[in-house]
Amino acid sequence: MKQDTNISEHITYTEATVSNKAKQLGISNTPNERELKAMKLLAEKVFEPLRNWYGKPIQITSFFRSAKINKAIGGVQRGDTVSQHARGEAVDIDTTSDNRKLFDYIKDNLPFDQLIWENGDDNVPGWIHVSYSETHNRKQVLRAVRSGGRTIYLPYK
Ligand SMILES: [Zn+2]
Repeated sequence: MKQDTNISEHITYTEATVSNKAKQLGISNTPNERELKAMKLLAEKVFEPLRNWYGKPIQITSFFRSAKINKAIGGVQRGDTVSQHARGEAVDIDTTSDNRKLFDYIKDNLPFDQLIWENGDDNVPGWIHVSYSETHNRKQVLRAVRSGGRTIYLPYK
């Protein structure tokens, strides 16, 4: 796939695959056909409906991360929430001031596998992780907090 194409109306291929870690390590971060298909599905089912409702750009901080990159950043130890990035099934988004609003909208209106309130505080998530699976959407809502130098996932209340 050429770098200047889009994977959906508002997501370019470049922003879905850019990785500073990959650049730093000099490795590519290229999804295969199956991973790209999963990314397009997530974009279609979650990101684009959210983007259309919000009506403004939503920053993608991390979408596809190959298994190699996940390993390099220590992602594998965090289990399936992170490995979903390697399958093209998860995206991290951040709008700063509106993260709470977007989190609530996804939770109440959209299909998803896992929705995670990432760090931040009790009022607003630092960023949002959301995943979508073609075959098993658990609608699991979690809150990720740093504890003793690692990230733990608690049920969201
Ligand atoms: Zn994530």
